[in-house]
Amino acid sequence: MSPTERASANKRIADLRAQLEHHNYLYYVQDHPQISDAEYDKLYRELVELEEAFPDLVTPESLTQRVGAAPSATFAPVKHFARMYSLDNAFSIEELTAWAERAEKAIGSSLRYACELKIDGTAIAVVYENGVLVRGATRGDGTTGEDVTANIRTLRGLPMRLLDSNPPEVIEVRGEVYLPIAPFEQLNDELVAAGKQPFANPRNAAAGTLRQKDPAKTATRPLTYWMHGFGAVKGRKFASHTEMLGYLKEAGLRVAPTTETLDDLDKVWDFIERWREQRASIEHEIDGVVVKADLIAHQQELGYTSKSPRWAIAYKWPPEEQVTKLKKIDIHVGRTGAVTPFARLEPVRVGGVTVTTATLHNEDEVHRKDIREGDEVVIRRAGDVIPEVVGPLKERRKRGARVWRMPDKCPSCGSEIVREEGEAVAYCTGVDCPMQRQERLFHFAARGAMDIEGLGYQTIDELVSRGLLEDVGDIYSLRPEHVADVEGWKTKRIANLMNAIQASKSRPLARLLTALGIRHVGATVAQTLARRFGSLDALANATEDDINAIDGIGRVIAHAVHEFFAQKRNRAVIAKLVDAGVRTADEPRARKAGGALDGKTFVLTGGLESMSRDEAGEAIEEAGGKVTSSVSKKTDYVVVGDSPGSKYDKAVQLGVTILDEAAFLKLLGR
Ligand code: NAD
Repeated sequence: MSPTERASANKRIADLRAQLEHHNYLYYVQDHPQISDAEYDKLYRELVELEEAFPDLVTPESLTQRVGAAPSATFAPVKHFARMYSLDNAFSIEELTAWAERAEKAIGSSLRYACELKIDGTAIAVVYENGVLVRGATRGDGTTGEDVTANIRTLRGLPMRLLDSNPPEVIEVRGEVYLPIAPFEQLNDELVAAGKQPFANPRNAAAGTLRQKDPAKTATRPLTYWMHGFGAVKGRKFASHTEMLGYLKEAGLRVAPTTETLDDLDKVWDFIERWREQRASIEHEIDGVVVKADLIAHQQELGYTSKSPRWAIAYKWPPEEQVTKLKKIDIHVGRTGAVTPFARLEPVRVGGVTVTTATLHNEDEVHRKDIREGDEVVIRRAGDVIPEVVGPLKERRKRGARVWRMPDKCPSCGSEIVREEGEAVAYCTGVDCPMQRQERLFHFAARGAMDIEGLGYQTIDELVSRGLLEDVGDIYSLRPEHVADVEGWKTKRIANLMNAIQASKSRPLARLLTALGIRHVGATVAQTLARRFGSLDALANATEDDINAIDGIGRVIAHAVHEFFAQKRNRAVIAKLVDAGVRTADEPRARKAGGALDGKTFVLTGGLESMSRDEAGEAIEEAGGKVTSSVSKKTDYVVVGDSPGSKYDKAVQLGVTILDEAAFLKLLGR
């Protein structure tokens, strides 16, 4: 590969990572994705392919090496007994066969397969000690999840005690929590009626419900679950996956009745095809079939990559499609001013869910597909609900149907809509656009950001229409007397809102950075920036090069961050936040003077099994050491995990002491 090809791959990789990181945040933390899973999977595949072509550009922080997203601060962190993994995908029979052949070659014999429906819910790990439920957690980043025990206890059909007179000492059972389609639709109707944002799909509704702060609220929604595995078990052995599922069922846990154990791949394919046809008849969403090696000995032999088991694969079906009438093309203005056209549709059921709107992405897409108002269109939904318009049935088009044009004025503020040369996206130029403002306020108050409960769309609307909220800084000037006369707002509601606003003042810096809505800064990037700079002030005064020098942050992000702080408007908003007493700096982490690592400099490369990169950095700093991003002669130790990068070679070259994970843990005294 030429240096130019490499440079352009590097740029695209940084761009893809930033995009995927952002969508991960919306999906895992906010439970409100903005693109379909199929689109996400396409971007993800592109990243995988580029990383395969340029292996030295793979970093442990890349999404291809990690599971999920960092657990939110709302719940106590929980270390899983064994890592919780994601699953690799197959989208065709060829990919499925290739997986099976690889696995059979590795174990040197043929496989027996356990085939299960892939429930589109959210993963949980439930621990029973001596038969008693003691803990329930989300997957989080795979190593550390969120303690949602109180909410897990409200799950329909989950036993508090196993039906086993001689239970294992400990068993960590893994499964999927889901919301069946009917209650999902009911929940969304209720949310819309209350002026709140509906959930994009049953998966996000289940994840959002499971991560409610108030278990009483979780209990009002009929969440249920299927168990499909175990993480760790002490005091019992299973020879096969099927045997384990049998045990879980006998012990009183819900296990999917559709699972089959099959001995050849043709039968596996029949299973997949059969369920593809029957998919709409199931009460919950499924987005494919999980095929697993049935024998535990085979599973152990095959092991794991940094992200997924080699002994299982998720076969995902192509998205479902239906035809309906496109009544009108409207536009939505996002918080950055980006203008997105979307279709208003005659309601149609796709994959068990009623669809009334679908995204059209951007103006070029509308023209490329030649979609016009009044057309009969094909709607696609891929196990998720941000359905998209695949295209029109041109042969059914009415005469005189006009080509759609992007309006030149914003429907919300009347400002000009412009599209720069070479850009796919058009922007509303209004500085005071109500739609943009509403989206910015909503983003600021959302969970994962400042988390101000009660400040949803409807409330924001009311406050904006009363002239009380111009920007996010005004949230902190709200007083009970400003809203005392709002119809239907009782004293309790007002007091709760004021308390929630007050409580949000002390969120960690990373949350504030996420809330400010800086382009490309999702939760993970925000954490990295907070860790490196410690205060908003330090970040605002950093140069673009300072930001770019941080591991895991590229030019695109560095530029966006620097630009953000350079804008006068943003600085004015930040000044309001500071005046109101919003915390803009994290407490410096306590260092152990005279600690074991006092004054020692570390560089980390590759993924560690027992902790995340951030946790390793924290542990080093707590023990008095320092973490830097590049290896030099001054570096004392280079900690090398899985798939290390070029820093490892540099360490060898400079003769720096190299620590593997075990040696590193020993040095930390763990
Ligand atoms: P995944 O959902 O593709 O597969 C892994 C999960 O499947 C496991 O964690 C487990 O919880 C679940 N599962 C369901 N049934 C199972 C069974 N019978 N056996 C074993 N596991 C079962 O992977 P993921 O890491 O959870 O999520 C990644 C996917 O999420 C992406 O491929 C994408 O489709 C979607 N995503 C979408 C967006 C977006 O913006 N739309 C953003 C991030 C992720």
